[in-house]
Amino acid sequence: MKAFRPGNTWRWQGESRLKPRLIIVCAPSGAGKSTLCARLVGEYPEIIENVSFTTRPQRGREEDGVDYFFIDQEEFDEKVGRDFFVECARVHNHCYGVSHAQIDTAISSGRPIILDIDVQGAKTLTTKFPDALTIFVMPPSIEELKKRLAARDQGKTNNYEIRIQNAALEIGEAENFRFKVVNDDLERAYAEFKKVVENELRNS
Ligand code: ADP
Ligand code: 5GP
Repeated sequence: MKAFRPGNTWRWQGESRLKPRLIIVCAPSGAGKSTLCARLVGEYPEIIENVSFTTRPQRGREEDGVDYFFIDQEEFDEKVGRDFFVECARVHNHCYGVSHAQIDTAISSGRPIILDIDVQGAKTLTTKFPDALTIFVMPPSIEELKKRLAARDQGKTNNYEIRIQNAALEIGEAENFRFKVVNDDLERAYAEFKKVVENELRNS
């Protein structure tokens, strides 16, 4: 679940300290990208958090319209049919998509937008927005990834086995990202993650 409420980032008003740009963050499930993104947005509320649409079931304390827009397959397909998504993909056996509206609103407000999406989504968006900052978050090891994923949501993670199987394929795509951050110790990894964003986006 997103620790920082995206609603707050949409309502935030002020002078952005960061340049308007897409920040694309990818990682195998459980590597810690939501944790890093939530912390960054807590410090930089001018960064708009994308809220994707998904057909996967809601988990834990997730809220509709906050963590995701939870929709059924029929509505997802209808949206695909009318070009509602700037990118969409099937990930771990469910559909996920980013709406044109989310990106357009961020761009027109002159603020950065952060997107926690999979490697297929990253490929599509970097073709459309070549200037996007891309960061891949690596787990320190597959063993640690399994532990984190198993511990999350009281062990009720949706499609656990598929997520672990897909991890190796996703890690194989890491070379296509401008930056890689190993999320070993959280404090160290967060400092590195934040530095990358500041170096790339900070208005001097
Ligand atoms: P993702 O968004 O990549 O699927 P999460 O941010 O949900 O991953 O993190 C998965 C789990 O691992 C969460 O329970 C989170 O609190 C924990 N976690 C994140 N970073 C670390 C870290 N550096 N060390 C130990 N646990 C971590
Ligand atoms: P989860 O089910 O754990 O929330 O997300 C599963 C995976 O789907 C993660 O890798 C996440 O980054 C990715 N994801 C979330 N939203 C989108 C989206 O809109 N598009 C794509 N391509 N991937 C997404």
